Amino acid sequence: MMTAKEHITCLVSHFPAIACPPSGQAAYYFDSAATACTLGPVIEAMSLFYQQAHGGVHRGIYREAERTTSQYELVRGQVAQFLNAASSSEIIFTSGATDSLNTVAYTWAMHNLVPGDGIIITQAEHHAHYVLWHQIAKKLGATVHVLPIDPHTWCVDLSGLDALLTTPIKVVAVTASSNVLGPIWGPGNVLLTALTQKARRVGATIVLDAAQMVAHAPVDVQKLDCDFLAFSVHKMGGANGLGVLYARAAMHRFMKPYRFGGGMVAAVSQDYVTWQKSPHCFEAGTPPVAQVIGLGALLAFYRTHVDFEALRQHEASLCALLINALKAIDGVHVLGNEALLVRQGHVVTWYVDDVHAHDLAARLSDYGCAVRAGDHCAQPLSAQWQGRATLRASFFMYNTYEQVMHLIDSIQKSVTEWRSRL
Ligand code: PMP
Repeated sequence: MMTAKEHITCLVSHFPAIACPPSGQAAYYFDSAATACTLGPVIEAMSLFYQQAHGGVHRGIYREAERTTSQYELVRGQVAQFLNAASSSEIIFTSGATDSLNTVAYTWAMHNLVPGDGIIITQAEHHAHYVLWHQIAKKLGATVHVLPIDPHTWCVDLSGLDALLTTPIKVVAVTASSNVLGPIWGPGNVLLTALTQKARRVGATIVLDAAQMVAHAPVDVQKLDCDFLAFSVHKMGGANGLGVLYARAAMHRFMKPYRFGGGMVAAVSQDYVTWQKSPHCFEAGTPPVAQVIGLGALLAFYRTHVDFEALRQHEASLCALLINALKAIDGVHVLGNEALLVRQGHVVTWYVDDVHAHDLAARLSDYGCAVRAGDHCAQPLSAQWQGRATLRASFFMYNTYEQVMHLIDSIQKSVTEWRSRL
């Protein structure tokens, strides 16, 4: 039985940007929560696709087009399996998590919410979710209720939930894991389960933003009991420009296409139009076929190489390593629930009293370290720490203890250098 460390060491070699960076310099990449390095087999599968003759999907009656179509649909089936969806018709390809969430809003919410309906979100939503639901509420005369983040536990505060659920709540749209704080739903996501169970009892539709979950933990849409689930493929080691929306089959009859064009219609005349069935009616135009083929290779890799339990242990131990080192530096504040981060985290966010996050990130870049600095597209959350910019290191299956030790050493040096200038 391989240890978590051995398991991860085996995986590093599959990511060319980490295993053999083009510059020849070691890559200290800690921004995978924004976008991950691409897996070698994904690059190879996409390259092979472009080198071969191919055709458009669901369009050509020739051998190459038919082969492309069957590869494309095969991957849809792989995604369904990966998420434990009941059917591949529940898998809609989009251009990313943002696009998937907008698809929920425009295909479903715009046709099913009425003035006065309530939408529950959390304070920790990424702007892709936070701004979207506020805009939809504005258009429809609905009300957005924001579940706060408890400043002591850094978890979602459900104390006001029962009272909220006595009002007409139509949607609960929440992030499964925060891109700033990591785990916000308590041990084993107990708070998320409590929320979805209660929301179900009042008939609310459940939308999960799984952008920070799919690459780090097994996702089972049936166990999660969600109606919609969204994610981006580029955060998992796959290609850019591709996302997935899981839409439970029971929701399809309440959804209407909102992008119009080729591939999504059954019949068109001057007087009428009929749509293809889901998922095709939601995929207007030529889809990102190469990226989907790459996703097929990515999911095959997850199936054969990724042990999510080993990955959890590994990422959490990197979080523990960094958090302990940060806490030893004067004036450093680590955000998020430490006990949860060292068990199931993949992001560590912090700020330093007297060093601006942008200055520190720029200095860390001189040491070869890529970390994120700013508000991380979550301004309502950063209001909790007066909107100040923070730094975030995020870990994935190719990050090693040695890389994190280099990051720690670089942070210590950078802070000392900054302070000695003052
Ligand atoms: N939700 C969360 C939680 C995210 O972290 C991100 C990306 N940072 C998104 C949504 C949006 O993803 P994309 O930009 O790939 O559409």
